Amino acid sequence: MSIENNITELQKELQPIAVQLVAISKTKPNEDVLEAYHAGQRIFGENQVQELVAKYEALPKDIEWHLVGHLQTNKVKYIAEFISLIHSVDSLKVLMEINKQAKKHNRVIDCLLQVFIADEDTKFGLDHAELIELLRSPEFTELENIRIRGLMGIATNTENERIVKEEFYELKMLFDGIKVTYFRKQASFDILSMGMSSDYKLAIEQGSNMVRLGSTIFGKRVIKHFKAK
Ligand SMILES: *Cc1c(COP(=O)(O)O)cnc(C)c1O
Repeated sequence: MSIENNITELQKELQPIAVQLVAISKTKPNEDVLEAYHAGQRIFGENQVQELVAKYEALPKDIEWHLVGHLQTNKVKYIAEFISLIHSVDSLKVLMEINKQAKKHNRVIDCLLQVFIADEDTKFGLDHAELIELLRSPEFTELENIRIRGLMGIATNTENERIVKEEFYELKMLFDGIKVTYFRKQASFDILSMGMSSDYKLAIEQGSNMVRLGSTIFGKRVIKHFKAK
């Protein structure tokens, strides 16, 4: 299967059920991104700031770039001008920096709060208590140049579907609870980013409306930037 075919097939599967596809192009060359682009794909995601900036500069300007990997405070400035969605906000500190850099560019940056749901301690994200603490903090309510669009989570990297399903279920419950409690009047709190190549069907069953697919589209990555094992 070609990249173009993969995009066409996935869009056929996802569009009717209103699930957004983020094509994760990390470690893949610009030609691969362009092939997906020519098949109609416009949303692409990267997990490293440096690679994201390089691709943004080289590729068509109507691409919507998402950051899905951990974001360090000192790197926010490099993406603030153009980033469409940051999936991986995991502290008030980084959110305040995103707000500050967004203000410099006179824009509002859409963000997801990354929630830790996996049964592994290598992954980033807020736990439930930290999430609530962030949402209740006075500093948070003053941020005018960020908009929280929803939540993101990464399930445990396991063959055991029951575990993965439970983690996604929990995140969906949390999303619904947070929405009615903290975002009742904000219709824009509407994104639940969960599901990667190995588990996106389970994620959709549990209520995901945004999936992040890399290898399903572009084939296996030689360098594993993300999964530790
Ligand atoms: C790499 C990555 C993906 C895509 O992984 P695949 O298994 O190739 O689909 C999704 N989300 C995040 C956060 C990633 O780092």
